[in-house]
Amino acid sequence: MFSVQEIIQITQAEPLHISTPNTLIKHLLTDSRQAFFPEHTLFIALKGSNHNAHTFIPYLIEKGITNFLVSENIFLSSLQSQSLNLLKVPNTLQALQQIAQAHRQKFDYPVIAITGSNGKTIVKEWLTELLSPYFNVVKSPKSYNSQVGVPLSVWHMTHKHNLAIFEAGISMPNEMQKLQAILQPDIGIFTNIGEAHDEGFLNRTHKIYEKYTLFQHTPIVFSINQDLLAQKLPKLHANFQVISLTTSAQKKHYTEVKFLDKQQFLHTLQIPFLDKASVENVLTCLCIWLHFGLPVSDFQAKIANLRALPMRLEAKPALNQCLLVDDSYNNDLAGLKIALDFLQHQPKKKREPIFILSDMLEASHESEVLYQNIAQLLQQYAPYQLIAIGKEFSRQSIFFPEKSIFFEDVNTFLQSKIYKNFENAQILLKGARKFGFERIAQALTSQQHSTVLEVNLEALVHNLNFHRSLLKPETKIMVMVKAFAYGSGIREVASLLQYHLVDYLAVAYADEGVELRQNGIHLPIVVLNSQESDFENILTYQLEPILYSPTIWQKWLHFLARHADPSQTYRLHIEIDTGMRRLGFDQTQYEWLLDSLAQLPTYVKVASVFSHLASAEDEASDEFTRKQIADFEQITKRIQAILPYPFLRHIANSAGMARFPEAHLDMVRLGISLYGIAPHPHFKPYLQPVTTLKTVISQIKYLSQGESIGYNQKGKMLKDGKIGVIAIGYADGFNRKLSNGIGKVWVNGKTAPVIGNICMDMTMIDLTDIEAQEGDEVIIFGKNFTIDHLAQQLGTIPYEVLTSIHPRVKRVFYMP
Ligand SMILES: *Cc1c(COP(=O)(O)O)cnc(C)c1O
Repeated sequence: MFSVQEIIQITQAEPLHISTPNTLIKHLLTDSRQAFFPEHTLFIALKGSNHNAHTFIPYLIEKGITNFLVSENIFLSSLQSQSLNLLKVPNTLQALQQIAQAHRQKFDYPVIAITGSNGKTIVKEWLTELLSPYFNVVKSPKSYNSQVGVPLSVWHMTHKHNLAIFEAGISMPNEMQKLQAILQPDIGIFTNIGEAHDEGFLNRTHKIYEKYTLFQHTPIVFSINQDLLAQKLPKLHANFQVISLTTSAQKKHYTEVKFLDKQQFLHTLQIPFLDKASVENVLTCLCIWLHFGLPVSDFQAKIANLRALPMRLEAKPALNQCLLVDDSYNNDLAGLKIALDFLQHQPKKKREPIFILSDMLEASHESEVLYQNIAQLLQQYAPYQLIAIGKEFSRQSIFFPEKSIFFEDVNTFLQSKIYKNFENAQILLKGARKFGFERIAQALTSQQHSTVLEVNLEALVHNLNFHRSLLKPETKIMVMVKAFAYGSGIREVASLLQYHLVDYLAVAYADEGVELRQNGIHLPIVVLNSQESDFENILTYQLEPILYSPTIWQKWLHFLARHADPSQTYRLHIEIDTGMRRLGFDQTQYEWLLDSLAQLPTYVKVASVFSHLASAEDEASDEFTRKQIADFEQITKRIQAILPYPFLRHIANSAGMARFPEAHLDMVRLGISLYGIAPHPHFKPYLQPVTTLKTVISQIKYLSQGESIGYNQKGKMLKDGKIGVIAIGYADGFNRKLSNGIGKVWVNGKTAPVIGNICMDMTMIDLTDIEAQEGDEVIIFGKNFTIDHLAQQLGTIPYEVLTSIHPRVKRVFYMP
């Protein structure tokens, strides 16, 4: 906590306007969506290449925020600025880091910093869980480990804590130096070093040394990783310093590890995981445990409860048209803010939101203050229904609305069966681990079909930003959300894109646009296939039609003449056919179009003119593509000569945008590559896969050589072995052409071929050489088993694979 005056000193800011220098800053805000405690919040306006937070300032002033740290001149009316504290620095990110560094210096309890490529978050979460009986731990919320995330994490340190555990991650050289200055770690942890984010570094050794700068002044650093130990980094304490591994053996359900401690005592540990990464992560925690002098026997007892569940926020369909946001992160105030924010960006529902929360384990606040804070956070979402579980919550019930319901534990909640009445609402489920909230999640989603399409929203944003980095700042982006957003879920994707400020959305048919409008999407939406029967909806829902022929042109203008309010403007878009030979005015119709444009009524405005490239991905067609671009430029010039105002010109789809920078014009139309599929091999390393289609093994059968499998006996066992029946069939979009070994799926890290004919709802796969159990996960496509690959097996393109996934397959949206 610093006063405004102190912030000025720390950051050397220029005080543009100061009304209350003694205001205490308790909260630092960089994300305009999280304005929760306005009076004591300092909004730090960060600027990135595509995001300028200064634009949100007027909106935040309306929300009651009065303290701002900026790097641009802000023009406010004198009335507005009267009550403000407005500080200016050359670089707001640097100022944020300076504030965090000054805050860090107030505390002398140990700070553990964790870096590495993989496992940072899980090690941090596990360590917190293991050590919390002994320490009051402050930790990074979620995986806040960036140039912005680290300062925001450090800001959570208070005098009530006595141990800090923070993550630090970098993607470019020279970033770690800054994180080092902020964190000043007393203890270091170096987890696994992998290939992730390699682009910015010369090679792996370069990356290791860069990361290691975090620990340049740290007296002790632990790592279990053999590769890292081989690098002989100066302060790296190997397992041989604290523990010395002797053997490690995989048993049926656990890994048995024997090690010698410093005093040369031999211990045996049963680690409840089989995979190498989890075992390494547990051993890393063990090093810290022993460093603090805690007994090994207690460690064994505590690790039995660790869970390898991916810790993430998930939104999934639940009973009676509800949407469940399930948050398995630890339950504290910072986590609640993140979860509420995530919830807010999910499609809205008819009924008020339902919050199911457990007692919160937060060391830094008196109980009363803590629950008051929770109430204040929730108030932003009023009216809401609170269902609170735990004794502490009911003790503090006065802070919450009267209709809130309090339960002692999960059992009494489940017995009450009140959840059966939940309907058409967003539900946030967030509980401290010891309460066992996974049982509630199960009860709320029990009818779920076990085949799901997982959509990684963070990857989608990554891809969007990657595309932005290739565009001029003034080039606009239209995103195609036709065909259910390429199968990924139109409402959720649109809502995310709206937040990330894309300029336009495009749908194929008007009813998709209507659905978006009914779900809070206010971005401009164009309709690619405008039909006469849709005019009513286009008008009512302020969609923008694309006119592609004289017929549809006349019909729309007649319709407007009858129904339009002449004091309004109605935007339309014109499609030109330059060679695709699909919709669009072609050369023979140009004169007609130009004549008609000259006669447009004043209430109609041409917002854009565009054309579509037929084979931008195909090098052999480049000449054709260039001609399309040149022809388009010519016709737009002629149109511009007629229209008295400028309009947007656009022609590039994903492949066009990737391969023809000269075709970016005023706007690009992104489709497939936003969803993580590279339109050209050059793009592959930069895009992250967004979707994973997965199912489960319902049953395993042991068969003998020669036995037949499935319809028409098409499958045959070539030797004795086993098959798995999986819960996906052609009705889900698992194409029947993949039958009889053509298709393959991914089970426990191995490929398993389809055996026999694919059925409507089920498929049999050969598991003869694969370790697998009933209930195991089966990946149809995803990160390691790509859509491209599946499309090749099928002899089609990824577009068709994605858009063929049947709506009955549940879409689950998550942030890793
Ligand atoms: C679908 C579509 C796009 C996007 O194409 P991608 O290849 O997915 O990038 C662009 N423009 C129009 C007119 C489209 O129909």
